[in-house]
Amino acid sequence: MILTLTVEKLTKRFTLKGTPAIFETSFEAAPGGITTLLGPSGSGKTTLLRVISGLETADEGRVLLGNEDITYQPVRERGFGFVFQTFALFPNMTVNENIAFGLRVRKQTNAQVAARVDELLDLVKLQGLGGRFPAQLSGGQRQRVGFARALAANPKILLLDEPFGALDAQVRLELRQFLRELHERTHITTLMVTHDQEEALELSDRIVVLDRGRIHQVGSPREIYEAPQTPFVASFVGMANVLMGRMNSGWASAPGMKVQVPEPMPDGSAVKAIVRPHDLRLSRDPNFGTPVTVARLVFAGSIAKVDVTTPTGETLSVHLPQDEVDRLALQAGDVVHLEAARARVFADSSKTFEPPLPTA
Ligand code: ATP
Repeated sequence: MILTLTVEKLTKRFTLKGTPAIFETSFEAAPGGITTLLGPSGSGKTTLLRVISGLETADEGRVLLGNEDITYQPVRERGFGFVFQTFALFPNMTVNENIAFGLRVRKQTNAQVAARVDELLDLVKLQGLGGRFPAQLSGGQRQRVGFARALAANPKILLLDEPFGALDAQVRLELRQFLRELHERTHITTLMVTHDQEEALELSDRIVVLDRGRIHQVGSPREIYEAPQTPFVASFVGMANVLMGRMNSGWASAPGMKVQVPEPMPDGSAVKAIVRPHDLRLSRDPNFGTPVTVARLVFAGSIAKVDVTTPTGETLSVHLPQDEVDRLALQAGDVVHLEAARARVFADSSKTFEPPLPTA
């Protein structure tokens, strides 16, 4: 049965003074989907996952599985499956025995265990490797055994703590694909911790963005990327330029943009405009935007990464199709004109504005 995991106002303090590790965190894990806890180091992701799993107790708040309050239920009674960053396999047991371990504790017959192990080896694409020991497997294969072991007893929820964290970049990419396919076959409600925004954007149905123990935003990858609700989310998820500007007669002005904001703010008040590198445009037309100097051009395949310096000395990153760079015949040292096609303007960390397209 696919169950919803609900977290209500969970707070956990390790010390009496100072910032709690997590503070009043609330969200719902998408039933049958992958929800990711995303945040920088020390933001509280692992603490939140440990409290949800029962490995750590909450000071305040509740954890619900379906309608059942499991806040104080012992970890072994929750029926959760775990995959951690380090493989945690038994080195003196074969792959088959590692996977079967969870089943034997549940008193199944030998034939039942063997059939289930075969099914799981097939699920994690390790057919034929059941007789090997963990030391005879690659890191990626070992982590697949970890997934098979976690799934062995049909867990109600799968909890993954940086499951690809110990692997090199290429294997991480392969295992992303592996997890996507595995999830398409199992549809177990999954909660994953990662600090890797690309991994979160690619794999998740829902992302919970944390910083310093607090949830900044819960949303689909697209909502988090395209409609960040705080400057932290905007700059943590996806590349972003942060431009400082000021209000002037209902418009927020920053280098390369003048954006009308729907909620009036006092003239002269400081605003922060967040612009993705691919939302900045460059032109040779002097009537277009703000003059900037090309500081650096980097070829990056189909796009070019162009650093430009504003008249106030800020460096901004612009991503343009390589064709566009060729058309403009851009060279380091050129003075060109910059405009933002899209921006999000924040008065402070708590307010968000949906700006219309800017005019120069
Ligand atoms: P990372 O990605 O580096 O693992 P994280 O986002 O998972 O970080 P946590 O490990 O949950 O963050 O830590 C959140 C805060 O709680 C940190 O300030 C950390 O120092 C503190 N903390 C975590 N576990 C303990 C503990 N057992 N005792 C005291 N403080 C702790």
